[in-house]
Amino acid sequence: MRPFTYTRAADAAEAVRLADAGRARYLGGGTNLVDLMRETIERPSALVDVTGLDSTIEATGDGGLVIGAAARNVTVAEHRLVRTRYPALSKAIVAGASPQIRNMATIGGNILQRTRCAYFYDEDGSRCNKRRPGQGCDAIEGFHRTHAILGASTACAAVHPSDLCVALAAFDAVVHLRGADGERTVPLTELHVLPGDRPDVEIVLRPGELITAVELPALPVAASSAYRKVRDRASYAFALVSVAAAVEVEHGMVREVRIALGGVAPKPWRAWTAEAALRGGSATPERFREAAEAELAAAVPLPGNAFKVELAQRTITAVLADLAGEQAA
Ligand SMILES: Cc1cc2nc3c(=O)[nH]c(=O)nc-3n(C[C@H](O)[C@H](O)[C@H](O)COP(=O)(O)OP(=O)(O)OC[C@H]3O[C@@H](n4cnc5c(N)ncnc54)[C@H](O)[C@@H]3O)c2cc1C
Ligand code: SF4
Repeated sequence: MRPFTYTRAADAAEAVRLADAGRARYLGGGTNLVDLMRETIERPSALVDVTGLDSTIEATGDGGLVIGAAARNVTVAEHRLVRTRYPALSKAIVAGASPQIRNMATIGGNILQRTRCAYFYDEDGSRCNKRRPGQGCDAIEGFHRTHAILGASTACAAVHPSDLCVALAAFDAVVHLRGADGERTVPLTELHVLPGDRPDVEIVLRPGELITAVELPALPVAASSAYRKVRDRASYAFALVSVAAAVEVEHGMVREVRIALGGVAPKPWRAWTAEAALRGGSATPERFREAAEAELAAAVPLPGNAFKVELAQRTITAVLADLAGEQAA
């Protein structure tokens, strides 16, 4: 039994002040943090409950949205403006976890959830560079079917498990942060970092920084978007590969496109290469496949997860073809 204090913050300023002391952790829905505490991977001396902070979902004047970090996943998924302006975001949330977990989980907590690599959770029996830098990684030589094919290193190949973050990455979301030094914003695509030789460093947040909100810019193409998650079971399973995509086709040509991938990298993976290959070109399944192959050219799979390369290529191609087909119909 490890003692810790529990305090419910009344506002963001108080949360940051409370988190300044010792090994404090912010508590959202607790659906990941409490598990990590039970496994003794997280050992906070203080929990600062932030579920009473901003949970509003508000339209911005120019057609974007600002979502308070304490908003529950289910509330965001069901919100009318999320469903109409960013349908892939709603679908990504619903593709994750179970109804009970989505009822509890917050947007801030979902963004900062830790990897689901089984060795990472096996504190007593496995070597893990993310838990203990320099210890070694049992996944690289062991079970890594679910692990990364893009952006991994020889030190760690764990994937970021969030579905929500894949859609946020596709739609240029910006994360609002508040810390002891004031407020700042970071693009979602720059919030999580690749492992390199320090897999224990996962995010660019400074100690004690609080996520206060996530902002989605006005993005007309996002109204025609989709999220497809390929997994071992139809529900309650993390992605082997997932794709959030939006495309606007005009006279058979790709006018605008957004693509991000989940289940393949240590961070939500924006498919910049595929997008650049597609923009301004013809909207045909052949071009979609070529763009997907260009994105996956950088893949470095492990023996047990090489299937993900083809799976990712096929999923990108299929999602784009479906979206383009809907616009042609
Ligand atoms: C069985 C199971 C299946 C799941 N399947 C999926 C899935 O398929 N897809 C998916 O995307 N997710 C899945 N999840 C993960 C689930 O969505 C996350 O556990 C959840 O989103 C975390 O949100 P939370 O509010 O409970 O976070 P918490 O557990 O409370 O916190 C997680 C982390 O975020 C930090 N944190 C929380 N709020 C803030 C804040 N405002 N600012 C700064 N730091 C903060 C905490 O300190 C902690 O480090 C699954 C979880 C379980 C248990
Ligand atoms: S893949 Fe990463 S999280 Fe998993 S055991 Fe290796 S170092 Fe740890």
